[in-house]
Amino acid sequence: MNIAIVGGGIAGMSLGYYLTKAGHRITVYEKEESTGGLARSFPVGGTYLEEYYHHIFTTDIHTIELIEEIGLKESLVWEESKMGLYCDGKVYAFGTPLDLLKFDPLSFIDKARFSFSTLYLTHTKDHEALEEITAEEFLLKNAGENAYRKIWEQLLATKFGEEDYKKITACWLQQRVSSRGKSKAGLFEREKLGYLGGSLKVLFDELEKRIKDKGGAVNKRAAVKKVSLDDNGKVIISTDAGDGGETFDRCCLCVPNPVIADITKELFDEGYIARLRSIKYRAELCAVLLIKGSLSPYYWLNISQKEVPFTGLMEHTNLISKDKYSENDIIYLSRYISPDEARYNMNSDELIDLYSGHIKDIFPKFDSSKIRQGFIFKDLYAQPVVTRGHKERMPDEVSPVGNIFINNTSQIYPEDRGMSPGIRRSFELAGIVGGNEE
Ligand SMILES: Cc1cc2nc3c(=O)[nH]c(=O)nc-3n(C[C@H](O)[C@H](O)[C@H](O)COP(=O)(O)OP(=O)(O)OC[C@H]3O[C@@H](n4cnc5c(N)ncnc54)[C@H](O)[C@@H]3O)c2cc1C
Repeated sequence: MNIAIVGGGIAGMSLGYYLTKAGHRITVYEKEESTGGLARSFPVGGTYLEEYYHHIFTTDIHTIELIEEIGLKESLVWEESKMGLYCDGKVYAFGTPLDLLKFDPLSFIDKARFSFSTLYLTHTKDHEALEEITAEEFLLKNAGENAYRKIWEQLLATKFGEEDYKKITACWLQQRVSSRGKSKAGLFEREKLGYLGGSLKVLFDELEKRIKDKGGAVNKRAAVKKVSLDDNGKVIISTDAGDGGETFDRCCLCVPNPVIADITKELFDEGYIARLRSIKYRAELCAVLLIKGSLSPYYWLNISQKEVPFTGLMEHTNLISKDKYSENDIIYLSRYISPDEARYNMNSDELIDLYSGHIKDIFPKFDSSKIRQGFIFKDLYAQPVVTRGHKERMPDEVSPVGNIFINNTSQIYPEDRGMSPGIRRSFELAGIVGGNEE
C-alpha cells in the first residue's frame, strides 16, 4: 500500500520504518528541515546534540530494541549518572537511600514516609485504585506534607501547570516512579543511563535511509496543511507547497492533537475536533549553554525552588565526556511552561542573561563570562496534561475515518510520554495500518 505519515518525530519515523519493513511504500511529511521532532539534534562543538536533553533508561526496551535492530548497538553507551536536588538554597545529592539519609530538609519520619511511598509506587499493581485519586492526594496521605512540598509539588506544578497539577492522576505518578525505580540495578546502585554516540540524529538518519532504500520518501520542510478524501475514499495530503496534493491508500497522523485538529477540520466532525482540542499541552523552553568548567558532579539536578525559572539543570558532559564536544562543558536549563508566560517569548540574550543570574545563585563560582555559546529551543506541544478522565478523552489509534490513524504522545497514558512507548505504539500500529486492504 501507499501510505502517508504526517510528522517526522520518533512516532512517525519508527512507524515509517516498521511499515517499510512490512513491504509498504511510505511517504513521511515533516515540516522542519530535519527529522526528530522533540528528539531532534543540532550541530554543536563539532558533532550533534539533542535540542532537549535525551537519555535512555534501562527500562526503555523498545528504544533499545529498535537501536539494536537497525545496527546501532555499538553506538549505545551506558554511563552511571548522579542526581541532585536543589532545595532550600542548597544542592543535595539525591539518587540513593544514603543520599536521602543526608537530606536535611526532611526529618527522619518524613524520609521514612517518602521512602515507603516511593517503594509502594514502584511495586504496586493496583493501578485502578490509583486512577481514582490524584497524585497530590496520594502524596499528601502517604509521603506526607513535608516531602510533598519539598520534593514533589514544584516538579508537578511546572510539568503540568498551576491550573492543572492538582488534577494529575496518581496512576501517572505511579508509572513515572516505577519506571525510574526499575531502571536501577539495585536499591543502593546509582542509575545507569544510555546515550547514543553522535546523538539521536544517528537513529533518525538510519530510519530515513531504511525508508528511502525501499522506494519511500521523507519530505522535509513540507508542512501538511490539509488532509482530505477524494471520491474513492483515498487520502489526499496537501502541503504548504500549494499543489493539488498527493493521494494515498492510508495515512497516519503522528503530530500533536491541536495540529491534527487544524489539518482535518474539513474531514472530522465538530465533536471529534473538540475532543482533540480538549487535551491541553505544556510547552517546553530549554536553554543549552556551552560553558567553560563543570558546575557540579551531577548529570541531573532537579530544582525544587519556585523563584528559579528552570526546573531541571542537566549537565550533559557529566554523562558524556566533554572531549566529544571540543572540550566544552554543556548544560541544559529546562522548564515546562505556558506559551502565555512572558519568558516564553524573550529573545535568547534576555533569557540567557536571566538564567545566568540564577545559575550563579546555585553555583556561586559561576559567572556569565564562562558562557561560550548559548542556544534556545522551544516547542508548544512538549507535554500532554493528563488530568483525571484523560483515558476517556485521548483519541483511539483508528480515527473516525477508517483509513486514517493516529499515533501521538497524548495516547501514551498512564506511562509518562517518552520515545520507548512511542516506538512500541508504532510497532503495534504498523500491524493495524498495514493489515488487509479494504
Ligand atoms: C525536555 C524534554 C526531554 C525529554 N527527554 C526524553 C528522554 O530523555 N527520553 C525519552 O525517551 N523521551 C524524552 N522526551 C520525550 C520524547 O522526546 C517524546 O516523547 C517524543 O520525541 C515524541 O515523539 P513524537 O513523534 O510523538 O512527537 P514529536 O517529537 O512532537 O514529533 C512530531 C513531528 O511532527 C512535525 N509536524 C508538526 N506539525 C506538522 C505538520 N503540519 N506537517 C508536517 N509535520 C509536522 C514536527 O515538526 C515534529 O517533527 C523528552 C521530551 C522533552 C520535551
